[in-house]
Amino acid sequence: MTLRIYDTAARKKRVFEPQDPKRITMYVCGPTVYNHAHIGNARPPVVFDVLRRVLMAKYGERAVVYARNITDIEDKIIAASLASGEPIAAITKKYADIYNSDVQALNVIPPSIEPWATGHVPEMIEMIEKLVRKKYAYVGETGVWFSVPSMPDYGRLSGRKPEDNEAGARVAVDEDKKDPADFALWKFAKPGEPEDAIWESPWGRGRPGWHIECSAMAAKHLGRTIDIHGGGVDLTFPHHENEIAQSECAHGEELARYWMHNGFLDMGGEKMSKSLGNIVTVHDLLKAWPGEVLRFALLTAHYRAQLDWTEDLLKQAKTTLDRIYGALRRVWEAEGGEARDTGVLRALEDDLGTPDALAELSRLATEANTAADVKDATGMANARANLLAAGKLLGLLTKTPKEWEQGGDTDENARIDALVQARIDARAAKDWAEADRIRKALAEEGIEIMDGPAGSTWRRI
Ligand code: AMP
Ligand code: ZN
Repeated sequence: MTLRIYDTAARKKRVFEPQDPKRITMYVCGPTVYNHAHIGNARPPVVFDVLRRVLMAKYGERAVVYARNITDIEDKIIAASLASGEPIAAITKKYADIYNSDVQALNVIPPSIEPWATGHVPEMIEMIEKLVRKKYAYVGETGVWFSVPSMPDYGRLSGRKPEDNEAGARVAVDEDKKDPADFALWKFAKPGEPEDAIWESPWGRGRPGWHIECSAMAAKHLGRTIDIHGGGVDLTFPHHENEIAQSECAHGEELARYWMHNGFLDMGGEKMSKSLGNIVTVHDLLKAWPGEVLRFALLTAHYRAQLDWTEDLLKQAKTTLDRIYGALRRVWEAEGGEARDTGVLRALEDDLGTPDALAELSRLATEANTAADVKDATGMANARANLLAAGKLLGLLTKTPKEWEQGGDTDENARIDALVQARIDARAAKDWAEADRIRKALAEEGIEIMDGPAGSTWRRI
């Protein structure tokens, strides 16, 4: 099967053909690090992690080079530093670490490259110099600007006209610009700005604009033309449009061959966003739910569709995963099976059809249960292999069934194991009252004992 992905620029699904199947390049715009990421912010890393897993399955684990940047210089970071008195580097390090551990808890494989903007200022300056030299940019009083009218086909990704840039950027018309659509490549330092937000440049002290970061870092780490560029749908315009303008005018080559954008995660009928205040952080969610439940919930909708984040969605994701892990437990000892070509990869190859892929995963769990019911050893071994192969593609089933059902605290688990054993002993001695007492005591702690042909096991509910 071929992989087909919806290309925002072409406005249709296209067959994916890499430039070089041995080196597939992917760039996804990463977080601005000054606070905790909300679960909407986690949608791009999770969605593009699934794409990366599909590409690894098709082209080889080492064929995919995936860059996800850290934006560690930006107005909001400077404001946070001024407000708290902490150095910028302390704030960005702290929140980048939190971001990475949050998304790793959602089974997101760390990117191959994580470029930080402040580590690439010379590359950005070099690119801006090129744009000035080629007359795509000019130096003003407050900064260096990209001249949008200098690029005749500006706007081809989003289909929006340059005039929209003004509204898109949500800034008042700047007197310094020759055209309202022009955008900043370099911003001169203003009085009162902290020294750690200021770099020297040929045009004056200041800092880079946001868009030039990604253009410079993508070119440096992945090459001038990358295979896939991704991000949230809000980045299509102006961010990605401006990345295209900078990169293509500087290099004379296409920036990205496929553009992919995920839809919004909503809560309470509106886009989850800090400015609206309807957010729930990944950090807080992880205190109440396993990371796989959050990931499963994020994948229940197609990545281009909106997804409503509700308590019910989480409960359903947990129930479904409990059932799948329960089936996996029943076939867990049956090793040596062979995974067949299931519908999971096929669903994902059609523009990352995760809803169908998850439905197929549930079907594989049913197969496992059926094989276990009739004690079909080969069927059980194959069902185990199928479930694990599908889990690998989706970034699910990364725990053992025991870990999933019993959690991590080993002392506590040993105590429960001992009680379950005491109940088995009581039953063997026909002391039904004692066996019942233990079962009830455990139930009060939220522990369910499951009696099966292979003995008794337990899970937290
Ligand atoms: P921001 O911190 O707003 O720059 O967002 C970081 C990333 O998260 C970008 O790729 C956004 O497109 C994405 N994003 C922000 N809010 C949402 C949301 N509610 N749903 C999905 N993606 C989002
Ligand atoms: Zn970007």
